[in-house]
Amino acid sequence: MSDCVFCKIVSGQIPSEVLFENEQVVTILDINPIHYGHALVIPRKHFRDFLEVTPDFFPSILDAARVVSSALVEGLHLEGFNLFSNNGVAAGQSVFHFHLHITPRYENDNIRFVLNLKKYETGKMKQYADLIRGCIANY
Ligand code: AMP
Ligand code: ZN
Repeated sequence: MSDCVFCKIVSGQIPSEVLFENEQVVTILDINPIHYGHALVIPRKHFRDFLEVTPDFFPSILDAARVVSSALVEGLHLEGFNLFSNNGVAAGQSVFHFHLHITPRYENDNIRFVLNLKKYETGKMKQYADLIRGCIANY
């Protein structure tokens, strides 16, 4: 993908602070961190989002997340961290090359996902579960 910022980072056309890399993934520092040390695990191959990632990449993505999270916890004395990925505009994705965020967290750091939690009405939980279970075999 010639106009993809992460493809350019992976190929070295755009500079980045690489924390860890192997044949399949590169892990860099996010340029606009939630906290210093905020990292991104990026597969070398262009996948638009999580649903496009082929399963052969899963082990190296997760292993890079494990290695870099461990190094962040030790090196920056984190009290916690979040692992997440935004998929789709509605979910806040801004770079359409799949990546996993690793964000440092500290007690009372005032970072909150603002949630308005719902409750299922009687019977609704099973209805939703049945709907989803009906699609599982397609994948
Ligand atoms: P998302 O909104 O989940 O798609 O995340 C994209 C992330 O990429 C954001 O947190 C940006 O700060 C980060 N980002 C964009 N361009 C660069 C870059 N050149 N180097 C490092 N991080 C970047
Ligand atoms: Zn790309």
